[in-house]
Amino acid sequence: IIQVTDLKKNYGQLQVLKGITTQVAEREVVCVIGPSGSGKSTFLRCLNQLEEMTSGRIVINGHDLSDPKVDINKVREDVGMVFQRFNLFPHKTVLENVMLAPVKVRKMPQEQARERGLELLKKVGLADKADVYPDRLSGGQMQRVAIARALAMNPKVMLFDEPTSALDPELVGEVLAVMKDLAREGMTMIVVTHEMGFAREVGDRVIFMDQGIIMAEGKPEELFEDTQNERLRSFLGRVL
Ligand code: ATP
Ligand code: MG
Repeated sequence: IIQVTDLKKNYGQLQVLKGITTQVAEREVVCVIGPSGSGKSTFLRCLNQLEEMTSGRIVINGHDLSDPKVDINKVREDVGMVFQRFNLFPHKTVLENVMLAPVKVRKMPQEQARERGLELLKKVGLADKADVYPDRLSGGQMQRVAIARALAMNPKVMLFDEPTSALDPELVGEVLAVMKDLAREGMTMIVVTHEMGFAREVGDRVIFMDQGIIMAEGKPEELFEDTQNERLRSFLGRVL
């Protein structure tokens, strides 16, 4: 459902992505690991067009992002994204946050959006918080709302950029549990994470990014046992 071919991204002189080639199949869960500054966030941001690629080719669900005629808004509807910080609208209730995009972008009738919003809040375990404002929620709850909000557009693919790294440790599990449910239901996901337990358990494949390239990739059980790759070994030594 995603094909990336020789993706490069420069910021001025700085070459951040130096030729990324990979595919993601429908229903696949790909976890991306790697040191700070290796280009993980930039990679995700290119996939949902928050950043323009410098060269290469990205095709997502049939949309060729390098085609000048591509409708960026259509692409973004297919690609849900959840960030480290939740960016909920503070002056809107939890339910209103979830309803906003379907109503504004999809022109979905209020009633239908409300119904769907409540369904999604139930799915992330927050049905009872529909009418509260985000400042009354814990970080883990806010992040679950952010996931529900992304799902409200019925994306074909979900991208997660370190969704748990800003959370207190005791709140990480509830967010990972929601992501695990999504994976089990067959959502196609790319997850940048430092949660090696999640990558090992839920990931179909793990990509190790280092200095703007894919340094290693494979099934978690293979990758985590790969002691031949010096850079990977040293990275895992630091995070495990
Ligand atoms: P982290 O684990 O810390 O989140 P990352 O792997 O996500 O790191 P990126 O955020 O993709 O790394 O950044 C890769 C490189 O690109 C870094 O050197 C960063 O300073 C640089 N960079 C990122 N965004 C920009 C920008 N908008 N302008 C200039 N340089 C940028
Ligand atoms: Mg990052």
